[in-house]
Amino acid sequence: MTVLASGSKGNATVIVAGSTRILVDAGLSCRELMKRMVQVGEDPEALDAILITHEHVDHVTGLSVLARRLKIPVFFTESTHRAWVRMVTPRSTMSYAKWLEKVQHEKEARAEAVAAQGTEWCEPESEGQHIVPTDSAIDPDVAMPKVKADPAFLPAVEYFRAGHGFSIGEIDISPFTIPHDAADPCGFVFHARSESIRMAIATDLGYVPPNVKMALKGLDVLLLESNHDLEMLKDGPYPWSVKQRVLSRVGHLSNAAAAEFLLRDYDGGAHTIVLGHLSAQNNLPELARLAAEQAIGARMGLLGNRVVLAAQDAPLEPICL
Ligand SMILES: [Zn+2]
Ligand SMILES: [Zn+2]
Repeated sequence: MTVLASGSKGNATVIVAGSTRILVDAGLSCRELMKRMVQVGEDPEALDAILITHEHVDHVTGLSVLARRLKIPVFFTESTHRAWVRMVTPRSTMSYAKWLEKVQHEKEARAEAVAAQGTEWCEPESEGQHIVPTDSAIDPDVAMPKVKADPAFLPAVEYFRAGHGFSIGEIDISPFTIPHDAADPCGFVFHARSESIRMAIATDLGYVPPNVKMALKGLDVLLLESNHDLEMLKDGPYPWSVKQRVLSRVGHLSNAAAAEFLLRDYDGGAHTIVLGHLSAQNNLPELARLAAEQAIGARMGLLGNRVVLAAQDAPLEPICL
């Protein structure tokens, strides 16, 4: 696991097992994602797929540009895909029937594009939306069919459902529902089949419900949200409505709530716990670390657990097992 970025300005993590490489979320510009991958010694061209937790901007900023550039499939839940399409094409409203029709048309267009090798490719004139990064011109000859001059067009889309496992190459993936104010947000457990290694990502959740506690068992690496310090949030600069949102059951996990999970529910088996999605405004790395280490330290036998902090501005050292 390599966390390329974690926090409200962008999230992205690379999971590798054998020859399979998955990018979980694409919350930085395409250029920045590729730059950070190269920094940690990963070849962006070797990515097999992009997996999306939910449609918030800090998880999808570079999505369309990166997917088109690398021509790799994007895995979403259907609701998340639909919410994302709505977000990048805000002027179009569409009924569910129309949506299904659109998805079908896109499938056919993709099939045609694949069949007609040598199709004329070009980037859309305008990405139309501020969340689509300006580096769309990063490689003008790698793009999409002219017929699909649409900011929501992706080279391939695959759907998964929370609670239903699926596989990408050598990695088995178990998506689980998380409580967060998005269309259909998910966390993931990744199982490297040949090596019996399990890693999980659980960020962007208002609290830790029973299904998440169940999912986060028998892990070797856990990336867990430790978003804010309650006191800093309450005294901090956010407007009251935003504070309420962060604190709500569908907001973000506090240092105290993460620590509570580690103290009461965590089974203690992980080699490394990565604390992520730290708020730049309402948290300090030392506070997040202290809360987690105190919780772990309070439990005999868990001293072997290493706690590391994921950052916003730079990738974390790859965690290799
Ligand atoms: Zn979110
Ligand atoms: Zn987020």
